[in-house]
Amino acid sequence: MPRIQQLPESVITKIAAGEVIERPASVVKELVENSIDAGARRIDVSVDQGGTDLIRVVDDGSGIAPDDLPLALASHATSKLISADDLFHIASLGFRGEALASIGGVAQVSIQSRQPDQLVGAELSCQGSELGSVRPWNGSPGTRIEVRHLFYNTPVRRKFLRAIPTEMGHVCEAFTRLALAQPDVHMTLKHGGKDVYEVPATAQLLDRLRLFFGKEIHDKLYGVEAEAGPARLHGFVADPSCERGNAKLQYLFLNGRWIRDRSLGHALQEAYRGLLMTGRYAVAFLFLELPPDLVDVNVHPTKMEVRFRDGQGLYSLVFNAIRLRLNQANLTPRLQAPSTLGPPRAPFAAGLPVPPTWLQEPIPAYTPTQVVGGVTQPSNAPPMLLDETPSFKAIQLYNAYLVLETAEGMLVIDQHALHERILFEQLKRRVRAGDLETQALLIPEPVELTAEQAARTLEQRDALAQLGLGVEDFGGGTVLLTSYPALLGKRAPQTILKAVVDHLASKERVPTREQLFSDLLSLMACHGAVRSGDALTPEEIAALVAQRDLADDTHHCPHGRPTSLLFSRHDLDRQFRRV
Ligand code: ADP
Ligand code: MG
Repeated sequence: MPRIQQLPESVITKIAAGEVIERPASVVKELVENSIDAGARRIDVSVDQGGTDLIRVVDDGSGIAPDDLPLALASHATSKLISADDLFHIASLGFRGEALASIGGVAQVSIQSRQPDQLVGAELSCQGSELGSVRPWNGSPGTRIEVRHLFYNTPVRRKFLRAIPTEMGHVCEAFTRLALAQPDVHMTLKHGGKDVYEVPATAQLLDRLRLFFGKEIHDKLYGVEAEAGPARLHGFVADPSCERGNAKLQYLFLNGRWIRDRSLGHALQEAYRGLLMTGRYAVAFLFLELPPDLVDVNVHPTKMEVRFRDGQGLYSLVFNAIRLRLNQANLTPRLQAPSTLGPPRAPFAAGLPVPPTWLQEPIPAYTPTQVVGGVTQPSNAPPMLLDETPSFKAIQLYNAYLVLETAEGMLVIDQHALHERILFEQLKRRVRAGDLETQALLIPEPVELTAEQAARTLEQRDALAQLGLGVEDFGGGTVLLTSYPALLGKRAPQTILKAVVDHLASKERVPTREQLFSDLLSLMACHGAVRSGDALTPEEIAALVAQRDLADDTHHCPHGRPTSLLFSRHDLDRQFRRV
């Protein structure tokens, strides 16, 4: 065993940096937090190459005295904390005195700063913890920090960085969190010189929510306000129809700081119980204010997790406030009973006047099988019998199931599961054969996403194109949908894209092409398929039943649920004691 040695300062700094600085977005977070702590009214962030090349943060805050500059870059040096006691009354975002030193250890940093009441300021640069000398600087009041070539001296960490759009997505997310927490500060973000966000100061949180998350969500928000003892909760929760496939649009802030908290996240989800399907997530923007001595923020290096004195009390506060608000919003009937079950329909009742788009899918050459009067007959006739009454006996029940008489017995088909399976097979076959027909949109549909979602989506642009989904960057978190697979008909291509986006965002790592294709095909099939609750016309029922024979595995939907159940003739007869 080698002897125990005290580690050199430069190694200590790199180790500390490992905890605080994970990627360019972490640098943006730390620098902007410092600007906010310095009382800045305006903060301009610009980055190049997703922040891997350059991150510049300029503020108009209180500045740093020239003599203090070297200290700002030293470990455990802070102006925000003097005694250990202060740790329990933290009112600033920073207090560990670690961020600038950490960044200085793994990048090339230059700081220029002037205090507003001084005629001259000073500048200092730092390369991998090596400080230059303090020189006079004559810029405008405030602080300007540039961080170049992050992880230039820690190649392993540099390798961990993801593609530029992904890193930029994280930067945007960090920026969004900071901007939501401080609506009264004017903030801007540029990437490669181009505007990403221009966020004017406002007294209204709603303005910011609209700017970052779009009109669609903005228009469906319910304000929440509640108090319990010294704790105060305010913010907005979205109508259940805004639900998402992951929890990314659940924002929680504590005393102006974005935090993650499992328990409060659970309280939020519980408040939506009965309004969302399992696996779906509410959208919410919640702000908690607590006296600083009721919370320990010193449990996590990036301070994204905290410990509450009275976690249970806060759980109840969040749950009750949101539940009450959703009840007031008159969502109560939906809380009790899902309304998908309509009255049973008469066989072949008149249905929609317009033929559904999925009927328009031309059936590839094959010998279709028709079920006629309980006898299975091969036939060369087109399976879609559009102008004749279908000749097999099938009825729709509960707008969800098709009951069919076959030679073997009574077949009960789950209309959604079967159609989903058929679409899945068709999509898969065509993508494989490279002849997936796409439908171009005459006017591309703008789809508003968060910047991170937009980045993740654009990162997969080629893969999506192969699946028939054409996407293009429109800037500012908006993606243009230019085409979609013709097979899916006109079933809200936007919705399908959003489901795809949610799926991409829910993945921790980049999926393999194979995995991505299989996931997205089943997702598109699911969204493109008729639903449980859709009333079908006789023609639609006929087409669906006829297409049954086209699929390789019609017994299971892509999620593994059965698509049909057979009650054999023999069993029926036996149950009724006929045999
Ligand atoms: P902390 O924020 O935990 O104190 P940092 O390493 O982030 O530690 O910053 C060290 C010190 O540098 C801060 O305490 C503050 O005094 C000073 N400082 C950093 N950034 C700014 C800024 N933008 N404006 C004014 N002072 C700053
Ligand atoms: Mg700080």
